Order: sequence, then structure tokens, then C-alpha cells
Amino acid sequence: MSLKKRRAVFLDRDGVLNIPIIKKNKSYAPLKYKDFKLYPKLKFYCQKLKLSFLLIVVTNQPDIGRKKIKLTELKKMHHKLKKIINYDELYFCSAISKKSYYKKPNPGMILRAIKEFNIEPKKSYLIGDRWSDIMPGNKFGIKTLFIDRKYKEKKPNKYFRKVKSFSEAARVILNDKS
Ligand SMILES: [Mg+2]
Repeated sequence: MSLKKRRAVFLDRDGVLNIPIIKKNKSYAPLKYKDFKLYPKLKFYCQKLKLSFLLIVVTNQPDIGRKKIKLTELKKMHHKLKKIINYDELYFCSAISKKSYYKKPNPGMILRAIKEFNIEPKKSYLIGDRWSDIMPGNKFGIKTLFIDRKYKEKKPNKYFRKVKSFSEAARVILNDKS
């Protein structure tokens, strides 16, 4: 077994990989499979990233806990995502409570991935569209890319880069020599 640490790109889901439902300038996860629409160029850039990185999706899905969406519906979405981007792992947290260790901004999901895949955080990246993604990424020394979709909510004030789209985030990572 190789002990060499691996590099990863951690990916939030809603607003990063798929187009969220926007209501009053706030972002929500789609509740129906038919509304699960991926951003353009996602496949193209994920194929490039996968040549050098593990792709690890880490997503809060409290609507499961709230019973607003069925697990079968969520799994259909993730099956589609697997076919398109071929992620290495997807962790989701269905907890409603902010106290859940696995719910972002708490570190549980990211820490679990770091351990299970022997990931080197400082040589890895995280792409997120909210403060709650960026915060735990920073905590582990992961290089964080904030896609600013101008939601009406608290923004992160510390990140590696601020970008406008997933495509731009991927290009930053692919060109980063730091
Ligand atoms: Mg998001």
C-alpha cells in the first residue's frame, strides 16, 4: 500500500456543480431530479482535474432530514453526477442541526475524506459558493476558491481566490504553481 499522500479537489454541490434554485437572492438545493441541472463545461473541467486530483464532493443536504426530498430522488441526482464527473467519493450530511459534526461549516465530512483517502490538505483545493464551505476548508489549510454568486448572506473574508464560475475555479487550480 502506498503511503504517499494524495491531492484532492473538494467540491461543494449546489451552486458549484449544479445550478441552485434561487429565491429572493438566496440559494436552495433542487428537490426534484428534473431540476438537477449541471453547469456548462463541468464535465470538461472535471476530466482535466481528475488527471491530477481526487474529486471529493462534500454537501449538506438538510432537506433529507426535513423530509422535503426522498433519498431515492437524491440518489438519482448523485448517480447522474457520478456519470458526468466521475467523482471519487461523495459525502452528504442530512442533519438539520448546526451542531452536527458532519454538517458544514463543521469539519466532519472533510476530515473523514482526508483520513479515508490519505489526502494532503495543503496541496489540495476546495471549491464552494458559501461561507460555510470556505470556512472549514481554510481550517485545514486547503486552498479555498470562493465562487461569489452574490447571494444575500454572509460572505467569507478569507480564501485563496475569489472567482465567478466553476470553470474559472478549475482554470485557477490547473494553473496554480504556488
Ligand atoms: Mg453550495
